[in-house]
Amino acid sequence: MSKVKVLITGITGFVGSHLAESYLKDGYEVYGTYMYHHLDDELERIVDIQKDLILYDCDLTDRNSVYRVVTEVKPDIIHHLAAQSFVKASWDNPEFTITNNILSELNIFEVCRQLELDPIIHIAGSSEEYGKIKSEELPVKEDNPLRPMSPYAVSKVGQDMLAQQYYLSYGLRTVITRAFNHEGPRRGRSFVTSSFASQVVDILKCRTESRIMVGNLEAQRDYTDIDDMVRAYRLAVIHCKYGEPYNICSGKTHKIQEILDYFLSKSPSKIKVVQDQSRMRPSDLPVLLGDSTKFRKITKWKPEVSFEKMLDKIFKYWVLK
Ligand code: NDP
Repeated sequence: MSKVKVLITGITGFVGSHLAESYLKDGYEVYGTYMYHHLDDELERIVDIQKDLILYDCDLTDRNSVYRVVTEVKPDIIHHLAAQSFVKASWDNPEFTITNNILSELNIFEVCRQLELDPIIHIAGSSEEYGKIKSEELPVKEDNPLRPMSPYAVSKVGQDMLAQQYYLSYGLRTVITRAFNHEGPRRGRSFVTSSFASQVVDILKCRTESRIMVGNLEAQRDYTDIDDMVRAYRLAVIHCKYGEPYNICSGKTHKIQEILDYFLSKSPSKIKVVQDQSRMRPSDLPVLLGDSTKFRKITKWKPEVSFEKMLDKIFKYWVLK
């Protein structure tokens, strides 16, 4: 029997590298797209598994490149993870974020249609789509109004709606997840958990002076460990109904301040905390807390890694890096 072929876009990204590892362990044939000109700092994430992957240099906004990859691979499952994923960067370049994220997905859908292929296509939506949530709406469910508060969030709403439309119009087997924050080793330094952990490690290794730069410490987020999220994504493509959104989250919130305190506690000497205005966003969401009952009912998924264990894994990663 031939192996199931999984195509992961953004395979050299944080989530892509972990998802690829998980599928390889279970004997799947794993293909991935990356962007050659960006690769240097990202290759590190897949260096241990690179020999087992089949990789394509592909800018997904280029329809011809997507056509070439999909024609050659003929995937059974596509996890479409590639995106400009940094909320803060989306304020600096909204046009790029919105065009890149929506056009990349549109190209995948159109190419599958054109080639009359019928893979299951997972779209990595985000809790940011909910945006300005009223306190009485917490924990937020899938039928809550979407009130996006950043260009990134708008791009994710666009991706979500496009996936719903392609299912309704053409029967494309789209699986839509709205994941709340997930963290772990290999996440980029610009994201808050990795930023704090890497700054503390740099101080401990005497690479920088003893002060840590921070943004908004009051925001509360719903965190899931990357290994739990990877398990959820794999279950999603098996069990979720096509064309419908599913929240994936722990159902618990933690303040950013707690993350900072955890990493600061790793230092034997006092580290000065400095508010950096450039790390603040024009509008930020005070609380993001999700309800993933819909997803848990059909998949029986629940998170297994505690918040503290997740932070510990991140810290160890930066110590060894
Ligand atoms: P990363 O930023 O680590 O990875 C995204 C990858 O996509 C990068 O390798 C990036 O390449 C690549 N990419 C971007 N644009 C293109 C393009 N046009 N063509 C080809 N590749 C492209 O993100 P994560 O792994 O953290 O996230 C994966 C997905 O999950 C994203 O869609 C994100 O929005 C979503 N998500 C993530 C959450 C989280 O907490 N991690 C929460 C909710 C949703 P390069 O870096 O070279 O530009």
